[in-house]
Amino acid sequence: MNAAQIERFFATLRAANPHPQTELQYASVFELLAAVLLSAQATDVGVNKATRRLFAVANTPAQILALGLDGLEQHIKTIGLYRSKARHLLQTCQILLEQHGGEVPRSREALEALPGVGRKTANVVLNVAFAEPTMAVDTHIFRVSNRTGLAPGKTPLAVEMGLLKRVPAEYRVDAHHWLILHGRYVCQARKPLCSVCAVTAECDTGRLLKSTTA
Ligand code: SF4
Repeated sequence: MNAAQIERFFATLRAANPHPQTELQYASVFELLAAVLLSAQATDVGVNKATRRLFAVANTPAQILALGLDGLEQHIKTIGLYRSKARHLLQTCQILLEQHGGEVPRSREALEALPGVGRKTANVVLNVAFAEPTMAVDTHIFRVSNRTGLAPGKTPLAVEMGLLKRVPAEYRVDAHHWLILHGRYVCQARKPLCSVCAVTAECDTGRLLKSTTA
């Protein structure tokens, strides 16, 4: 994709959805951090189902810690990898209380120092809670970036760096949401819906398909 195609690609996605949001449900920065931490290899729908129950009884670091390991596991056991996630969330709550006054820190370094919080989770929190122009490359963004030619790369980090370089500044804060939603609902893993895709003319794969069927 060249610069003009990238511009049209994002202009089209923005026109269809001017204010994209995460599909994770949260009511505070801490709830967002907890939800993202729980969402690794799980669907947002599944995480929301569990966190609706969990946050109704505990939605601060102190309240989650008070549940203890068994109590927390009971609330999140429908989520994959719940045992290690429960352990990480408790350790994270402890650190938030001891080192950050119970608040979620705004720096990448401090976020990535929290158990269970890697680069992707830190990117989501920085973007969604603090409106930083970060790119949290998940499986959808990785696929869409490679298929379209927007930011090809062999690793999530390479794709992230490519996106930071190639996405025009005005689209950077919302880009990761548009790409996730596009990957989730249109440019799907097994069967991309190219025939109804709004950015076929901008996408490398879409243009190739068109030229071979023309
Ligand atoms: S044209 Fe096809 S491959 Fe390209 S972004 Fe759309 S759905 Fe994905």
